[in-house]
Amino acid sequence: MDSIEFADPVTGSCQCCGSPTIQLARFVHRNGEPFAVYRALLAHGPHERRADLVISLGDWAETASPSDRVTFACHLTAAPDNFNVGLVEPHQTSWSSGELGRILSRDEALQHPWKQEVFGLSDRILACDKPLIAYLTAP
Ligand SMILES: [Zn+2]
Repeated sequence: MDSIEFADPVTGSCQCCGSPTIQLARFVHRNGEPFAVYRALLAHGPHERRADLVISLGDWAETASPSDRVTFACHLTAAPDNFNVGLVEPHQTSWSSGELGRILSRDEALQHPWKQEVFGLSDRILACDKPLIAYLTAP
């Protein structure tokens, strides 16, 4: 069973236009062990309404390093009846790899054995992460 640790959103302003942004940083535990980290950037203003999400999977133990992890970049959008999750290229995310681990190309992500974990977690995010859901579904 996965549990998501919800910290307070961090507000900021967009580097391109100064519009308000919200950053979310979450730790995910599976059976009590660190399992994943994800971050989402939610930009208001003239931008398309989409969550710019990175999900880092791999070894999140304290002794591990970023090279023990890989990062999947995706964009989440709301459709009339559901949500869409699309894997994107590293240059299409505003996140950088840093401690998350290398950001996979879209092809690498699609062929990666952990792809199903990413889609499973994104379903969970779209069911549980209230600030993200509110951003995507606001009129
Ligand atoms: Zn902007």
